[in-house]
Amino acid sequence: MHIVVLAGGVGGARFLRGVLAAAPGAEVTAVVNTGDDVTLHGLRICPDLDTVMYTLGDGIDEERGWGRRGETWTVKDELAAYGAEPSWFGLGDRDLATHLVRTRMLDAGYPLSEVTAALADRWRPGVRLLPMSDQRVETHVVVTDPATGRPAAIHFQEWWVRHRAELTAGAFVQVGVDDARPAPGVVEALATADAVLLAPSNPVVSIGTVLGVPGIRDAVRAAAGRVVGISPVVGGQVVRGMADRCLPVVGVEVSAEGVGRHYGARADGGLLDAWLVHTGDTAEVPGVDVRAVPLLMSSPEATRAMARAALDAADA
Ligand code: GDP
Ligand code: CA
Repeated sequence: MHIVVLAGGVGGARFLRGVLAAAPGAEVTAVVNTGDDVTLHGLRICPDLDTVMYTLGDGIDEERGWGRRGETWTVKDELAAYGAEPSWFGLGDRDLATHLVRTRMLDAGYPLSEVTAALADRWRPGVRLLPMSDQRVETHVVVTDPATGRPAAIHFQEWWVRHRAELTAGAFVQVGVDDARPAPGVVEALATADAVLLAPSNPVVSIGTVLGVPGIRDAVRAAAGRVVGISPVVGGQVVRGMADRCLPVVGVEVSAEGVGRHYGARADGGLLDAWLVHTGDTAEVPGVDVRAVPLLMSSPEATRAMARAALDAADA
């Protein structure tokens, strides 16, 4: 059994842990968003890849949801003492080693997919970890600059981490996406997948960015197995993160039904064969098998059961 999961950071990583628990023995490929990637202090940082890698490799800080457990911040404090900007991004000492190795390999000419495989050699995440693309794609957010009153585009990380998503977003722009190609293995994995799962990740800046890479959306639609999506919206609210500030920007209602319709039915030019919503939520998505099951990843067992429900929906 081969399962492909499209994933962002925290929501994707936790869901992947459930998939591994629900389908021991299955081959799992994770296709991960790299639109959040950013270069800071000369280092290439891939937040979503690292979140998945640390989570599945048992190195994650569970409480924060990102970064390393037992992290210290000496380098960050030293950079601040120099007044070295940006100071708003949390670069931990342990985490820095990952970015140093990655940047050195990228500078030596290795593509991100090979760098990711080399890093995963240490962490043994139990899945095949693929970036969505080896080309640089960076999500920028169009905001009104509070200083000038004029429109400005800032990196997604600056919008989210520095401004806490408090500047109203006018648009999300995936810079570089038109020239990007799926990373080696992505299209092949989708073609042979027995099940394709859209993790309960941010539908706009995680899953939406992955699907925006030319060729990936068509490859999902052409997958041999069924495509099952899991709603990140529970009871009309996102469980964590900023999807509630992203969905309205692309004209999508913050509800399980809104996101389900946004993905759409595969039979209708969309993506989904089945759509999971949280128990008690309802969603009418024409042409899609909608199922209500518990969707809160509150414990390993709850997460496993949720992934099991997704795989059952893929089996139908
Ligand atoms: P990020 O890249 O770290 O922001 O993480 P993702 O894009 O992978 O996931 C963010 C999304 O995960 C948010 O929209 C949340 O609503 C969703 N999410 C987080 N925890 C849960 C959960 O327990 N259940 C469900 N259904 N969604 C969740
Ligand atoms: Ca992310």
